[in-house]
Amino acid sequence: MTTSVTKLVSMRDMLLNAKEEKYAVGQFNINSFQWAEAILEAAEEERSPVIVASSDRLVDYLGGFKTIATMVDRIVEQKNISVPVALHLDHGQSVARCKEAIDAGYTSVMIDGSHSPINDNIAMTKEVVDYAKRYHVSVEAEVGTVGGNEDGLIGGIMYADPHECLRIVQEAHIDALAAALGSVHGPYQGEPKLGFTEMKEIADMTDVPLVLHGGSGIPPQQIQQAIALGHAKINVNTECLQAWTNAVRQVLENDHDVYDARTILTPGKAAVKDTVKAKIREFCSSNKA
Ligand code: 13P
Repeated sequence: MTTSVTKLVSMRDMLLNAKEEKYAVGQFNINSFQWAEAILEAAEEERSPVIVASSDRLVDYLGGFKTIATMVDRIVEQKNISVPVALHLDHGQSVARCKEAIDAGYTSVMIDGSHSPINDNIAMTKEVVDYAKRYHVSVEAEVGTVGGNEDGLIGGIMYADPHECLRIVQEAHIDALAAALGSVHGPYQGEPKLGFTEMKEIADMTDVPLVLHGGSGIPPQQIQQAIALGHAKINVNTECLQAWTNAVRQVLENDHDVYDARTILTPGKAAVKDTVKAKIREFCSSNKA
């Protein structure tokens, strides 16, 4: 019996189809393996392609790259998941980390060089793309910075420069571009304000599938506008975390004597699954598998 990672696919075709047909594939981050189950069950029931992601900052907490890749692949097999599934590294912190993820069986990586000057960002991204291509692994890059709290890293918003976006697409040959345009990781303070004028300019200039980070808490009308302007991938973590926490808190508050892990955690899983299904419908990727 082989234990190699075999069933997962790159996000390249998923995103090209989504951009062409004007919907977005959801990226849902895992915070435990029960989350992977919830996300995969939701995608299967909705007949939607899906991107299961681990944030680089959570990889060690989740057991390391190999454990994550093997577990996600096994869950796909065990549950007979038949929709396309990509396993993606979210916010890869270095070229070495991206290569490690690819070696372990990830089918997609994001190299986050957004905190470096653009020439360094492009050089790093190119190195990852050169390596990833050999294994048919897709690569996402980021220009500008998403604000808020990204798994403990707190930062401000810096809009992506359209000319830098064009350079990284043309010079590094990436599959997807996260162009930061006002979105934040974590809860928004007030109404989110995405830069739609800049978004249109970047979409027209680059013609690459765009990625919207900080997808939690954005009103549906702005989500639809982002999809219309070339967003083919939308990342969601906080809304799933909030749903999970509310469900688990309710169990604990309702029964102070409860100690059985399954009793406590199963409603959390159900809440994540419901949230993922709702997002898939909102992103219009149901029945696109
Ligand atoms: P939220 O946590 O705000 O949903 O953002 C998720 C994300 O962008 C992961 O990269």
